[in-house]
Amino acid sequence: MPRRYGPFGGAFVPETLVPALEELDDAWRRARRDPEFRSELRRLSRTYAGRPTPLYFARRLTRRAGGAEIWLKREDLLHGGAHKINNALGQGLLARRMGKRRLIAETGAGQHGVATAMVGAALGFETEVYMGERDIERQRPNVRRMELLGTHVVAVRTGSRTLKDAINAALRDWITNVRTTHYLLGSAVGPHPYPTLVRELQSVIGEEIRRQSLHAFGRLPSMAVACVGGGSNAIGTFHPLLSTPVELLGVEAAGPRGHPVGAASLTRGRPGILHGSYSYVLEDGEGQILDTASISAGLDYAGVGPEHAWLKTTGRVRYVAVHDGEALAAFRWLARDEGILPALEPAHALYAAMREARRRRPNERIVVTLSGRGDKDLEQVGGDRR
Ligand SMILES: *Cc1c(COP(=O)(O)O)cnc(C)c1O
Repeated sequence: MPRRYGPFGGAFVPETLVPALEELDDAWRRARRDPEFRSELRRLSRTYAGRPTPLYFARRLTRRAGGAEIWLKREDLLHGGAHKINNALGQGLLARRMGKRRLIAETGAGQHGVATAMVGAALGFETEVYMGERDIERQRPNVRRMELLGTHVVAVRTGSRTLKDAINAALRDWITNVRTTHYLLGSAVGPHPYPTLVRELQSVIGEEIRRQSLHAFGRLPSMAVACVGGGSNAIGTFHPLLSTPVELLGVEAAGPRGHPVGAASLTRGRPGILHGSYSYVLEDGEGQILDTASISAGLDYAGVGPEHAWLKTTGRVRYVAVHDGEALAAFRWLARDEGILPALEPAHALYAAMREARRRRPNERIVVTLSGRGDKDLEQVGGDRR
């Protein structure tokens, strides 16, 4: 597996973590080629997580946009309500194969924490999830879910008390307990081999899009769109399509209108190192991580996976940023037109996709990865009486 994507990626970690990362790299190289591992992952993806997810033609949303057809890749229908289970299940099986008995994870919106808690319970691990205190406050229902699933949620009170601090806390735990513990990282970020490992586990999204597009309309879509937090649902969507003519669009969170950076690392950040990886980062002139802001906790992260940094540099993927209010508009369109409450993260992707659709001809098709469902966000969305 590549350690680098162009100049990006690598493993900038304390000496004590190097053997653990090498052990993980080695275990994954073997597992991914092992037919028994692959068939167990395929079986649980189907019978536990709910794969394959449907590709849905959004007829009324298409009419609203008035241009290209909008199709939705329904990752929101997976167990737990988001694409996170694809990665958690794969890493859980890998950890079992490596003889670990304890899982730790970080979580922002709580979706990855819930996915890890589910897998921890189903595969019989002791599980602890690190979560920033501020995220605990804004994502109560997911904290409750994790606890009911038998996971211990550890409140992180350092720094901005959000995802970046939770990752630091999880890394510290891993350094201390590396012999017994697997760190189940939740996005395509961090030191090698995580960005590649997570991308391979999420690529099932793009592989299914390829197959289902050919089946549904006899060709590949003109464009695929996905939201980018750390970048796992986006890289899973894009990677199997990189060698095709499909246009690829990644959508970051611009935050509240007027905010200097939002959480848009690729469109408003610059190259730098965060959490063991060289990629795009939101930092000031002294290398201090900037305060990020987004209505969606899942996109509220100052870094991004290194493969996205490379795909931006080469120009193969275009990246744009969408404001909180625009994401909320898209949330309402999908609710009213299609009877689907999306998570606020993919509502960003949906807004950008609608804008693209308007400029395109009706014989074009745009696939949007609907990475999760909106139940967790009802409080953020507020009332909507009419
Ligand atoms: C976590 C999350 C994201 C952002 O994470 P990526 O690694 O960028 O995919 C997006 N959508 C949903 C529903 C999430 O839970």
